[in-house]
Amino acid sequence: MRRLAVISLHTSPLAQPGTGDGGGMNVYVRELTSALARQGAECEVYTRQDDPGQPRTVTVEPGLRVHYLPAGPVEPVPKEALAPLTETFAEAVLADLAEREPVDAVHANYWLSGLVGHRLKHELAVPLLCTFHTLDRVKAEASPEAVSADEPQQRAEAEAAVMACSEAVLASCSVEAGQLVQAYEVERQRIRVVPPAVDHAFFAPGDRAQARRAVGLPVEGRLLLFVGRLQPLKGAPVALGALELLRERWPDLSLVVVGGPSGPAGPAHVAELRAQVAELGLTGRVRFVPPQPHELLSSYYRAADVCVVPSRSESFGLVALEAAACGVPVVASAVGGLTTVVVDEVTGLLVDPPDAAGFAEAIDAVLASPDLAERLAVAAVRHARRYTWDEAASRLLAIVAEQTTGRLVACQ
Ligand code: UDP
Repeated sequence: MRRLAVISLHTSPLAQPGTGDGGGMNVYVRELTSALARQGAECEVYTRQDDPGQPRTVTVEPGLRVHYLPAGPVEPVPKEALAPLTETFAEAVLADLAEREPVDAVHANYWLSGLVGHRLKHELAVPLLCTFHTLDRVKAEASPEAVSADEPQQRAEAEAAVMACSEAVLASCSVEAGQLVQAYEVERQRIRVVPPAVDHAFFAPGDRAQARRAVGLPVEGRLLLFVGRLQPLKGAPVALGALELLRERWPDLSLVVVGGPSGPAGPAHVAELRAQVAELGLTGRVRFVPPQPHELLSSYYRAADVCVVPSRSESFGLVALEAAACGVPVVASAVGGLTTVVVDEVTGLLVDPPDAAGFAEAIDAVLASPDLAERLAVAAVRHARRYTWDEAASRLLAIVAEQTTGRLVACQ
């Protein structure tokens, strides 16, 4: 039986995804640790306490415990300001682990947890596995203004240092693996691809009209869906621009946007989106829906004719995979992991360059051809079936097994 310490410092795996700091990483940590526990592993997940009402420990299921540890003020702190608290948090994790059976490895998520994991690795002399979720140098290319304004200066250097001392750096797909090599010079032999997945018990095809009724959307008319955190990197304005270009050709077309503001630029971005709706004369055609519990999203996917993912950068893109699993054609930017999740012209359409005109053209192609829509939907479901959390957990356990017999990488 393996015992793992899983670090998720800046956001709890039990927090609501789709707003604030909650997104794909929360879903990833929650689902992966759950699958690990089902395979007999013991997971201690550590996250920062940001609310006095949070219990010290939540036993989610046998083999999976989430621990809320205080570090700094017991209140929300923007993740851009959390780096100075990583040492205090690491001390708290070490104190907790000292009371438990030894762990076989540390799995850190995001660079802040990577700093904590790095300290734990040396204190406990166990292998460090890191999943970064987003990479500063890659994000900087897609959105230089966001990175320079929001990110602590130290991030890219800290990421590189943690990578250099990790026994394994986990990438979600070969595109991210390539980015780790090119932007951070990580040696190929330390990179392991562990694709995230989708819970097929919830995310499966179903009747569109029934799904619309279930979530209170009109049964008539064509529907585009955008799901995700609302911040410039996610590209929601492109979806609005595409809708505007298509309004005459498809008078019954509307857009549902599910998600909430995220990051320092989030609130202003949401205000801009609402203003854009009014300016483009799209009032009544765009509905903003607050973040939804993860499992409930499946009904929104099934309700849609097309799911749009206009991100400027994406390390993987769980939303595109979930839509595919529900049998909904995806129109996505041809960037990052989306080029793996969406097989162009087979399971969906990739747009390059990912602007409003390109999205409008691709959406139009799907709406105009029920045959194409059906063909994409069938292939998407088949493609999505390859991604299961059990497979991800098996890969992670195999990495832990291979590392526990080797020598630890020395700090540079
Ligand atoms: N999500 C959710 N409820 C919402 C909006 C999003 O559960 O209202 C989930 C969504 O199902 C997906 C994750 O948040 O699993 C977003 O992951 P993705 O990889 O698409 O983007 P990220 O947030 O990692 O940038």
